[in-house]
Amino acid sequence: MSGEPQDDCLFCKIVAGHVPATIVRETDTTVAFRDINPQAPTHVLVIPKTHYKDAATLATAEPALAADVLREAKAVADEDKLESYRIVFNTGAGAGQTVFHAHAHVLGGRGMQWPPG
Ligand code: C5P
Repeated sequence: MSGEPQDDCLFCKIVAGHVPATIVRETDTTVAFRDINPQAPTHVLVIPKTHYKDAATLATAEPALAADVLREAKAVADEDKLESYRIVFNTGAGAGQTVFHAHAHVLGGRGMQWPPG
């Protein structure tokens, strides 16, 4: 739980404009930017401007803000004209989370496998 900007958080620095990112959408509450290491033709991260360590913590603390993130994920998919796409919230290091500021990966533009690796 947090809600306060964290000095050591990379995504808080992107929100503040202190670290560069290729921003594709911004609202009062969210920022969407292209992943620096894309895993698909469309690979955009949607983050809340407020710091929470992961998606479930965000949804518990501020459900409306979690909904904002999901709405923006769809807006990204619509802008890139994706008929189908995947939204991923890696949660915890064992699941591949490396940045502990809640973020939705929006992936599309290629075929997807299930189960994911
Ligand atoms: O789910 P996970 O925490 O691993 O996702 C973090 C994502 O942030 C990675 O896909 C990584 O490529 C991306 N990233 C980025 N810009 C940075 C640092 C990391 O897009 N400056």
